[in-house]
Amino acid sequence: TIGFGDSLLTPSPLQVFGQAKEQINNIFVDVQNYVHDAYERMIDVNNLCPGVINENELDSILDYRTQVRGICEVLTRDQMKVAFFGRTSNGKSTVINAMLGEKVLPSGRGHTTNCFLQVEGSPTGDAYLITEGSNEKQNIESVTHLAHALSNGKQLNEKELVHVYWPKDKCRLLSDDVALVDSPGIDVTQHLDDWIDAHCIDADVFVLVVNTDSLLSNTEKNFFHKVSTNLSKPTIFILNNRWDASANEPEFIDKFNSQEQEREQHMERATDFLVKELKVCTPEEVVSRVFFISAKEVLQARVEEHNGFPLNNGVLADGFDARYLEFEEFERRFEECISKSAIKTKFLNHSQQGKHIVKEMHKIMETIYKRIQEQTNLKTCQKYELQKKLNVIEQQLISITNQMKMKIQQMVDDVKDKVSKALND
Ligand code: GDP
Repeated sequence: TIGFGDSLLTPSPLQVFGQAKEQINNIFVDVQNYVHDAYERMIDVNNLCPGVINENELDSILDYRTQVRGICEVLTRDQMKVAFFGRTSNGKSTVINAMLGEKVLPSGRGHTTNCFLQVEGSPTGDAYLITEGSNEKQNIESVTHLAHALSNGKQLNEKELVHVYWPKDKCRLLSDDVALVDSPGIDVTQHLDDWIDAHCIDADVFVLVVNTDSLLSNTEKNFFHKVSTNLSKPTIFILNNRWDASANEPEFIDKFNSQEQEREQHMERATDFLVKELKVCTPEEVVSRVFFISAKEVLQARVEEHNGFPLNNGVLADGFDARYLEFEEFERRFEECISKSAIKTKFLNHSQQGKHIVKEMHKIMETIYKRIQEQTNLKTCQKYELQKKLNVIEQQLISITNQMKMKIQQMVDDVKDKVSKALND
């Protein structure tokens, strides 16, 4: 068991992502410095001894410098991304609001989400939205304001992505770098493939929100078949929403038994879909991927709690506590999965790229070093040869000098002889 003190020391799964992000960022700052230093040294060497480093090598280092700079930029922006799908009115926006703990996204009648909405932490602390292809920040003060901004602006295309930046201090998920993406109803589009390319490729977790009034539709199934052929083993959660409504249906006389049976039926279908059809999880994992919840109740309770009222103020439907606990269990499993998946997909890729760059640079630096060594050796040999030649010349000079000396001596002796002979005569 984890005590209060331990929980302060043990980071939550979402914090593990934050820590990994900080570590990999620091490593890439080191790599960036290394590439920069290497380039500067190469320029110095090139100036001192032109020809030792060839142009390809200089170009490669410049290329690596650009690549590392790009990775550093992406890394600072990396976040965990969860995308919500399901038919219109199944409760996608309500689930997102419940997770955020307040009404951020408009939901309900007249507020059908007709484009993709990505809620993420605001870098400035203010709430604002930015539509696709624009840099203009539209301030939003409330959910009504947001609904207004979304319906009043230019006609939004269903494929379009609107970024909703929300104050991080209002929600732990946002402060821990989670981005939540709401989508238009899966039943209203002909462009599922485009959706996958545009919004799913970098999602770490998918949440399918279904309505327990009906069974999984073919459109919902088809969409996830396409997702799982595009992404290897995506992490998919199924939320059977409106479980409160099911609990209160008057036609069930023996409510508990009926709901148990209904749950079993939904569970069986979800298991068949995730384990047998999509093959994205094992039969053991399914219990931590499929949940029966009421997003509306959780949202209501959290808003009340935020306003200082107790979680269950007595006006909620039967079985609220169990549904609330199940929603919390979903959030716990979700946090574990999203953190693991994001670390693996986002950072593994970057660290492999980083490793490749450092390895290639090491090879280039070694080649240059060897080349410099070879050239130094060659110069030493040339010096030795020259020295040998100089020695021979020196010897020759000595012998010539000696011969000259002898000749001069002979000449002097000759002259001496001749002079003394002349004097005697
Ligand atoms: P979306 O179109 O999938 O985003 O659905 P919304 O989140 O807009 O929800 C559609 C309607 O269903 C709204 O009126 C919600 O209040 C209602 N709703 C959402 N979740 C629940 C739930 O768990 N129980 C009940 N009874 N109603 C819900």
